[in-house]
Amino acid sequence: MGTVIQDKELHVIVVGAGLAGIAIAHGLRKHNISYQLIDRETTPRDRNWGITLSWALPLLNGLLPPDLASRLQDCQPDTSLSVASAGEQGVLIRDGLTGDTKIRVLYPDGVRRMQIQKTKRVLSQGLNIKYGKKLLDLTYDAPGQVTAHFADGTTEAGNVVVGADGGSSQVRRCLLGEKAAAQEVLPYAFMNFPFSLPADKARWLDSVMNPSVDVAPHPKSMYMGLFLLDKPDLERPETWVFYVLVTWPIACKEDEENSENRLERLRAHMDGWADPYKSVVEWLADDIAIGADQLRIWHPKEWDNREGRVTLAGDAAHSMTFHRGQGGNLAIKDADEFVKHMVDVKEGRMSLRDAMDAYDKGVVARGEEVEISRLQAAAFHDYENFDNSPVFKMGIKPAGK
Ligand SMILES: Cc1cc2nc3c(=O)[nH]c(=O)nc-3n(C[C@H](O)[C@H](O)[C@H](O)COP(=O)(O)OP(=O)(O)OC[C@H]3O[C@@H](n4cnc5c(N)ncnc54)[C@H](O)[C@@H]3O)c2cc1C
Repeated sequence: MGTVIQDKELHVIVVGAGLAGIAIAHGLRKHNISYQLIDRETTPRDRNWGITLSWALPLLNGLLPPDLASRLQDCQPDTSLSVASAGEQGVLIRDGLTGDTKIRVLYPDGVRRMQIQKTKRVLSQGLNIKYGKKLLDLTYDAPGQVTAHFADGTTEAGNVVVGADGGSSQVRRCLLGEKAAAQEVLPYAFMNFPFSLPADKARWLDSVMNPSVDVAPHPKSMYMGLFLLDKPDLERPETWVFYVLVTWPIACKEDEENSENRLERLRAHMDGWADPYKSVVEWLADDIAIGADQLRIWHPKEWDNREGRVTLAGDAAHSMTFHRGQGGNLAIKDADEFVKHMVDVKEGRMSLRDAMDAYDKGVVARGEEVEISRLQAAAFHDYENFDNSPVFKMGIKPAGK
């Protein structure tokens, strides 16, 4: 047994107020465990996307207080889409060459599309959050204690730090060092950008597109997906915002350098694509903003949790590509497991060290999905062999089941 933390002493520092950090903070709050959630952001980032929560949705519902669980509908890109209907329509994978359905992965228990910015805004309510605090370092000044140091010169002391600080986690760097914590950049060109259309075209796209996920491999070794990001006014299609995700293996110097002419490069890849992808790319405004992006992953390696004082959750613990839609689900699973282990500590069933060792074992094991998602990403660029890929065998169910 390691240091035994008396329940009144237990204080958890949650670094990162993304999906994982917010879910952890709600779970701790529900069990009256002292916590401080911190995030480096001062204003919401301009980056936005949607995620499909499937198998982890019941876990999220369990972590949230009832008043916020009942507001999950407000976090959706389309607030009129029901969980049951999204589950019935499932994840649609088309043949990019013909537009025909290759496979429809159904999820009869229901799926919820969640827009990441709305989710952070709605679900951060009621939490003890300090913004504008960028974690720089962790020190271990006394047994059972850890201190987080922030860029603004302030500190926060507690018994446990959980790094829920995303794919390029600083907590991970503190735990493992720069080299071991570094993400791997996958060799694909990657674009992720929002767009709107005139009312008639937006209505058409909305009517032909699958409401949660509509993606396709193409024989040109290319993946493309069309998604809804927001419907600010359900009655005015010209206000609707969609987004494109597109990847292809880096093949030329311009891809390698990720040069600015992204729309031109995308259009040069579009011959032979079927609708709806083909028309959408034709209709994009010539001056559309497409930012630089990369696909990065990190395979978890065991870390020394400093006698149970530091751990990781969500993308910080296992960052993966979106090609099987698992990162957000795993972030919620980590949150649920972390909270359960903290409750065990609070109620005296486990020492902090044993609880964290057990949690770490689970989070590292769940990281097997990083490789599965990498294989799924590769399969989306291998049209001939696509039918042998993980989504055909596992659908969107979690690995290890
Ligand atoms: C385009 C796209 C599509 C996706 N689709 C799906 C999907 O369909 N299904 C699915 O399950 N998953 C999906 N994912 C993955 C999912 O979005 C992520 O796995 C999930 O959002 C990770 O949440 P997180 O809380 O771990 O990290 P993040 O959301 O990255 O949050 C990390 C937080 O930590 C803060 N932070 C970072 N560094 C510091 C620091 N030094 N100090 C303080 N704070 C810090 C950041 O400001 C941020 O708020 C998708 C991802 C992308 C990009």
